[in-house]
Amino acid sequence: SRRERKLGEHIAVRLEGVTKRFGDQKAVEDVNLEVRDGEFFSLLGPSGCGKTTLLRMIAGFETPDEGRVIIGGRDMTQVPPYLRPVNTVFQNYALFPHMTVEQNIAFGLRMKKMPRDEIARRVQWALELINLPGYEKRRPDQMSGGQRQRIALARALVNEPEVLLLDEPLSALDLKLRQELRVDLMNLQERLGITFIFVTHDQEEALVMSDRIAVMNKGRIEQLGPTEEIYELPQTAFVARFIGDSNLIPAQAIEPRKVKTALGEFVLDDEDALTPGQEVLLSIRPEKIRLFREKPNLPNVFRARVDDIIYTGSENQYVLVAGGQRLMCETLNHDIQEPGHEEFAYDEEVWVALTPEKLVVIQG
Ligand code: ATP
Repeated sequence: SRRERKLGEHIAVRLEGVTKRFGDQKAVEDVNLEVRDGEFFSLLGPSGCGKTTLLRMIAGFETPDEGRVIIGGRDMTQVPPYLRPVNTVFQNYALFPHMTVEQNIAFGLRMKKMPRDEIARRVQWALELINLPGYEKRRPDQMSGGQRQRIALARALVNEPEVLLLDEPLSALDLKLRQELRVDLMNLQERLGITFIFVTHDQEEALVMSDRIAVMNKGRIEQLGPTEEIYELPQTAFVARFIGDSNLIPAQAIEPRKVKTALGEFVLDDEDALTPGQEVLLSIRPEKIRLFREKPNLPNVFRARVDDIIYTGSENQYVLVAGGQRLMCETLNHDIQEPGHEEFAYDEEVWVALTPEKLVVIQG
C-alpha cells in the first residue's frame, strides 16, 4: 500500500512555533511540524480551524507573527511567495479566463523568461501528465470543473516546485469527479515524488490520500501521525469524533487496567495503565464492536437493544442502546455468516463484546 512506501530522509518543510493572529483572534497557534521529502501530508480540520492560514504561511501569502517557516533547509519566513520553491493550487482554480490552456500553463514560465521551445516542451509534458493532451487552445470556460482543476494542477507542476500546496482543490467538484481526481492526484504525486501539503475538511479524503495527517482544531494541532494511527488511535475526544464515527464511553478507573462505565466494568489492554479514580473516555470504532445472539465467552460483554438499523448496501449499521447510552455498530454484509457478525432484528436484545485491544483510552 502507498502508506508503506519509503519517504525521503530530508525535511521538505519545517514549521517552528508558528503563530498568526488576526486582530485579537489567534488563527494559528504555536504550530510545530515537519513534512518529509516526497510525503503526501494533509492538514485536516473543520472550517475555521486555521488550516488555510497555515498553508498560506508556507506559500508566503501570510507572514507569521511568531515562529519560522523553513523550506528545503532554508529560513523562508520573510521570503516573498514567488521566490519560494512552492506552488499553490486553489479550490477555485484561479485560471486566467481570457487565456488559453496553453497560455495559462505557460504563464509562470514566461514570467521567468524561459526560452520558447523549452516552454512548449514543458507545456506538452504537463498536458500529458494531467491526461489532457490536445487541449492547448481551449479557454477555461470551454472546460468542465474537473478539467479546469487539472489545468490548475498542470500550471503549478510545470514550475517544478519542491513542494505543492493544495488548498481544498477537490471540494468544488461533485463526488464522482472528486473520487477520480483523488486517485489521479495520488498517482501523480507518487510518480513525480514532489512533496504535497494538502488542506481539506474532508476526513475521508485525507484518510484515502495521505501518508500522514495533522488534525487541527482552533488553530492548534490536535494530533499528528500516520494515517492509520490517526484513525486507530485517536488521542483526543476531538479527533475521535472528527475522524470517522467513534463511540465514546465515559469511564472511571477502578484498577490500573479496569474501568467502570454505565455499560458495566471493562478490562483494558495490557498497554494501558490508569490511576484508580481517574476519569477517561473509551473510544471504539463502530466496525470493531462485535454482536452476538448467544452470550459469548469473551471479556467486556454486556446486553444491548437494537434501536435502529441502517442498511447502506455494503454494510449494516446498528444503533444500540445500553445503560442509557447509544452505540453505533457496523457489520459488513459479507461477514454476516461469521460469529460476531450475524444479522439482527429491530428491537432485538443482543450481546455486545468490546475487545480490550480495540478500546482506545483517551485521557483528559
Ligand atoms: P475554511 O476551511 O473555512 O477555510 P480554515 O480552517 O482554512 O477554514 P482559516 O481560513 O485559516 O481556517 O481561518 C482561521 C481563522 O482565522 C478563522 O476564524 C478566520 O475567520 C480567521 N481569518 C482568516 N483569515 C483572516 C483574515 N485575512 N482576516 C481576519 N481573520 C481571518
